[in-house]
Amino acid sequence: MGRLLAMQLIESGYSVSIFDQDSIESGSAAAYTAAGMLTPYTELESAEQPIYNMGLKSLKLWPKLISTLQSDLGFQQQGTLVVAHNNDKADFLKFNQQLNHKKISSDNNVKRLSRTELSEKEPELNSSFDQAIYLEDEAWLNTQKTMQALAKHLLGSGINWYAKTHVSQVHSRKITTLEKSYPFDWVIDTRGLGAKPQWQELRGVRGELVWLKAPEVKLTHMIRLMHPRYRLYVVPQLEDQLYIIGATQIESHDFSPISVRSMMELLSASYAVHSGFGEAKIIQSQTNCRPALRNNLPQVLIDNRLIKINGLFRHGFLLAPTIAQEVTQWLNSNESYQSPFQTLFSEVA
Ligand SMILES: Cc1cc2nc3c(=O)[nH]c(=O)nc-3n(C[C@H](O)[C@H](O)[C@H](O)COP(=O)(O)OP(=O)(O)OC[C@H]3O[C@@H](n4cnc5c(N)ncnc54)[C@H](O)[C@@H]3O)c2cc1C
Repeated sequence: MGRLLAMQLIESGYSVSIFDQDSIESGSAAAYTAAGMLTPYTELESAEQPIYNMGLKSLKLWPKLISTLQSDLGFQQQGTLVVAHNNDKADFLKFNQQLNHKKISSDNNVKRLSRTELSEKEPELNSSFDQAIYLEDEAWLNTQKTMQALAKHLLGSGINWYAKTHVSQVHSRKITTLEKSYPFDWVIDTRGLGAKPQWQELRGVRGELVWLKAPEVKLTHMIRLMHPRYRLYVVPQLEDQLYIIGATQIESHDFSPISVRSMMELLSASYAVHSGFGEAKIIQSQTNCRPALRNNLPQVLIDNRLIKINGLFRHGFLLAPTIAQEVTQWLNSNESYQSPFQTLFSEVA
């Protein structure tokens, strides 16, 4: 969130400084763990309407951002195939009903595929799936590459970057680190879960995922498996035969390594999607916590000259371009801008 916002603010002519406890290249940010899915339709299964509305806007913003960044972010817009095993048909039907209920069914990007159409689109998928919902517009990117490309662009724009610098307090017009305080016209807090000491309502939602190298698997779409207990997805990296298998969602502020149960569930579900995953190598597992607020919706909280942006939950890459644009417009309009995303902004009385 911080990097995308900094980019937009610099484009609008602001002079920007970044304080980050991580190094510039890597770190513990949830952003480095994210699978990089930009899936506003699929997320409707569990997310509120504002996520969909902001997500659709971001889907259009990402290609523009990529052309400004002039870097390969591994961006792919091949869509998602939503499938379910026969025993889990109820979950598939429920998702379909949600699309109908939210009046998204008639959208041209939502397609129902028969078994034949599905096997034409993704021939290697387990043939027991007899139907799918194809969400044609959905996309994904490589989050590591994206973080690096944003850093390169920002450093090239002359930003002041205080890397490996822990911020102990944010205030209106002032940032305090362990060593000293720095005055600014505006302070914007995008610390994710790192902001918890000053935003008690924030909670961490644990997510675990696995990277597999699978030479025997050739999937070209994101696959989302409807399941009663978890939301399994497969995100192909299309280079190096790598696939991300994710992710658990556990209400716990727990950053410890992946559990045996989660590993077994993720791997067995991926094997059920494509038996070629049986021969895959486990490259790494990752665990992190998503920063969440009430209703799992993001919030921009304005407190005098301090803006706090948080609660991006499982949608940071999906939402950040839109939120960055909204906040920049609000600042550019001398605070008179009325955002079309009404639930996003709130002010401290
Ligand atoms: C397993 C998993 C899978 C995910 N998959 C997706 C996905 O497919 N698509 C998607 O859109 N989202 C996904 N997400 C969610 C996404 O990662 C988050 O929504 C997003 O990273 C939140 O962005 P943020 O900038 O608010 O927080 P973060 O990414 O956590 O960044 C916070 C930054 O603040 C810095 N910071 C924190 N505290 C301090 C401090 N005191 N001083 C200085 N710096 C500090 C950190 O170093 C970091 O750089 C996933 C998350 C997880 C855990």
